[in-house]
Amino acid sequence: MTNRRLRVDFHTHSRFAMSTSPSLDIATLSATARRKGLDVLTTGDFTHPAWCDELKRDLSDVGDGVYASDSGTRFILGTEISCVWKQDGRGRRVHLLVLVPDFSAADELSNRLGKLARLESDGRPIIKISALDLSLMAWEVDDRSVIIPAHVWTPWYGLLGSKSGFDSIGEAFGEHAHRIRAIESGLSSDPAMNWRIGELDSRAIVSFSDAHSPGTMGREFTVVESDMSFDGLTSAVQGDGIVETVEFFPENGKYHLNGHRKCGVRLEPSETPADGRCPECNRPLTLGVVQRIDDLATRPTQVSMTKGGLIRHSAIHETRPPFRRMVRLNDVLSEAFGVGPNTKTVGRTADALIAELGSEFDVLLSASVSDITAASSERVAAAISAVRRGDVDISPGFDGEYGAVKISF
Ligand SMILES: [Zn+2]
Ligand SMILES: [Zn+2]
Repeated sequence: MTNRRLRVDFHTHSRFAMSTSPSLDIATLSATARRKGLDVLTTGDFTHPAWCDELKRDLSDVGDGVYASDSGTRFILGTEISCVWKQDGRGRRVHLLVLVPDFSAADELSNRLGKLARLESDGRPIIKISALDLSLMAWEVDDRSVIIPAHVWTPWYGLLGSKSGFDSIGEAFGEHAHRIRAIESGLSSDPAMNWRIGELDSRAIVSFSDAHSPGTMGREFTVVESDMSFDGLTSAVQGDGIVETVEFFPENGKYHLNGHRKCGVRLEPSETPADGRCPECNRPLTLGVVQRIDDLATRPTQVSMTKGGLIRHSAIHETRPPFRRMVRLNDVLSEAFGVGPNTKTVGRTADALIAELGSEFDVLLSASVSDITAASSERVAAAISAVRRGDVDISPGFDGEYGAVKISF
């Protein structure tokens, strides 16, 4: 099979996961992927019985572990599991992405997990099992199964998060740690921040959306060079074929800085009291991703930026793919016009740009300024160019509150 350049989003959800949009079915996932320019998605939530029935009904097997919707969008089987357990006297809560090569592996894993939890209650089930035991179970079911720790830095559910995580992948996975070949950086960190962590040198850093609604699909994604097979795609995202990742501005993420939302307190690590308590109410602060990476980092940031907005490791180019930053098209247009992101003006302009230039990500990332101007206006083209250059002002997120991005143009 021949390799192609593919945009993939392997952290998705269905309408059966807690607090997701009721519109998330295969037809909507496919239509949105096409509009945005995503080539391959995970199904999300395959342990949910009703969703798994829908997947078997709405997807056709096109071979090599890849499934297609009626409109042609490609899927592999993937889900997120919330592992909850106690280890070394501490309660642990860790989210893992699990990718499996076919429905027989999916069904077998669901069978086993169904003995531990009620899988019909949540598409992203909470299961009393350690991250290691869950992984061993998935590998036993099919040794091609892939485990990717999800949004690893988030305080509550990240493998390396401040509240219930670990200080290293080794602590959680022991002698099996080498089988964890990729981590998801999450919205509040970017690859450059992760490059500071020695333990991640031998691991791929991937970005996916964790979308709970169609609008947020692909807000982060990974570009790979791969053939259209489960083995090809999973080996690519585990480091063998990453071309680049496309990222949220990390300050925009809701756990970027330290803080206490109830008190409106947001603090840089350098401003944070040593006891980690809120200066207003004395309750513990939620320590964000910047702080957590500072605490575990083994080296300073090493980045260089190219003219096209691609951000590279300043020393290692072979094993560290570059990344770029993106703001959703509706949000860019909202700023360009000074109206809300869900208004008719924004919707009409987005439709026109996509009709003319291919897909949302083509518009945002690769279309020429003159083509964007021709399909919309100079002002819109200026806003998109400013985002590509990174000319934005951001009020950083903290303690569950998203940051706000303002484009400078
Ligand atoms: Zn999660
Ligand atoms: Zn407080």
